[in-house]
Amino acid sequence: MKIECTPDLAEMRPAIRRFVTDRLDPLTRRIDETGEVPPEALAEMRSQGYLGMRLPEQFGGGGFDLATYCLVQEEVARSHRIYTVMMDATSGLTPIAITRHGTQAQKDKYIAKIASGEWLASFGLTEPEAGSDAAALRTSATRVDGGWKINGLKHFISGAHRAEVVMVIALTDPKLRARGGITAFLVDKGTPGMEITRVDKTIASDPIQLAEIRFDDCFVPDSAVLGEVGQGFKIAMGSLTAGRMGVSAACIGAADKLLELGVAYAKDRVTFGQPLSERQSIQWMLADSATELALARSLAYETLRRIDAGEDVPTGTSMTKLFCSEMVGRVADRVLQIFGGAGLIRGVPVERFYRDIRHYRIGEGSSEVQRMLIARALFKE
Ligand SMILES: Cc1cc2nc3c(=O)[nH]c(=O)nc-3n(C[C@H](O)[C@H](O)[C@H](O)COP(=O)(O)OP(=O)(O)OC[C@H]3O[C@@H](n4cnc5c(N)ncnc54)[C@H](O)[C@@H]3O)c2cc1C
Repeated sequence: MKIECTPDLAEMRPAIRRFVTDRLDPLTRRIDETGEVPPEALAEMRSQGYLGMRLPEQFGGGGFDLATYCLVQEEVARSHRIYTVMMDATSGLTPIAITRHGTQAQKDKYIAKIASGEWLASFGLTEPEAGSDAAALRTSATRVDGGWKINGLKHFISGAHRAEVVMVIALTDPKLRARGGITAFLVDKGTPGMEITRVDKTIASDPIQLAEIRFDDCFVPDSAVLGEVGQGFKIAMGSLTAGRMGVSAACIGAADKLLELGVAYAKDRVTFGQPLSERQSIQWMLADSATELALARSLAYETLRRIDAGEDVPTGTSMTKLFCSEMVGRVADRVLQIFGGAGLIRGVPVERFYRDIRHYRIGEGSSEVQRMLIARALFKE
């Protein structure tokens, strides 16, 4: 059962898939062997216009809507999660926030370089004491002559060690906190007082890394403030809508690929004289996965259509992120079970997907946080 967002996007899908199969899959095999991302990967993504897709055309971006961006996220996620990370670093939370809230000078400084992939951007919100409860952040920015001094610690920041600019969310008025006391700053790599103090590898593939950043009397000028002073929490939360849809698309792409791998393996693998595909218990695992994937697509595409039509659908975004990230977990678990021992060997795609998709239930608002937001809306209604 084919479910597509719009007829136009359906037409684009085969060309994107061909590119992923012909150009990205060979690079993915090298990543699986070496743990390193070949330098050509970024160039390949750039050649197709997949970097800076959502940034304005006047700055060299693609000017695409969220649904088109998500279609590409879905397709590249069928190969390796790292390609979705590259898209995010050039079109995700921070670049979009600069596009929406930046001054002309900030746009001129950052957007063209980010759109081309020359500069990567990262998003610094989470702290040891402020994860799900992001408003509890402690990193502070204090007014000084000509600017601000930032002090504090951020952690779990995707790709900050490779980023040229980090959007840092800091407390500027402890009394007001999320109600006007939090501000966003654009802090450039190499700014004295900002230091990457640790880079963590995780359960996921080696190239997916999270950085810790320490700020020690880090001076930034007034021109580094993004948007209005006191609007940082709103800016950060506003950016998460698109982020959650991007994650959902990546979950759909990974589940689609896993299902394909599961079906192929079940047809091929013979036990007790018959292929696994003849066994009802195996068929049901695949049938349940296909059904859940179709549901995930329906929900995601409807939400994307509404977002691109200008509707504000925070609950739809939360439902989509919740369902898609949990769905891909179930699909990965079933497909790995179908592969048996062959699915557990380090470096085979099923094993890698199984590990890579585990993040999705935690990052960009965990499943519990999404449920909390959905429930809050229910009680408000
Ligand atoms: C792959 C990945 C990339 C990330 N990238 C970034 C990034 O680029 N920038 C950034 O700022 N952050 C990033 N993060 C951090 C991410 O946003 C946080 O991990 C997330 O918000 C959860 O915070 P925490 O890990 O501190 O967990 P906690 O908030 O400590 O929560 C621990 C557990 O308790 C649950 N929980 C918390 N509160 C409640 C509650 N009230 N009711 C019920 N259950 C609750 C959570 O759902 C979770 O299961 C990333 C995380 C991951 C995994």
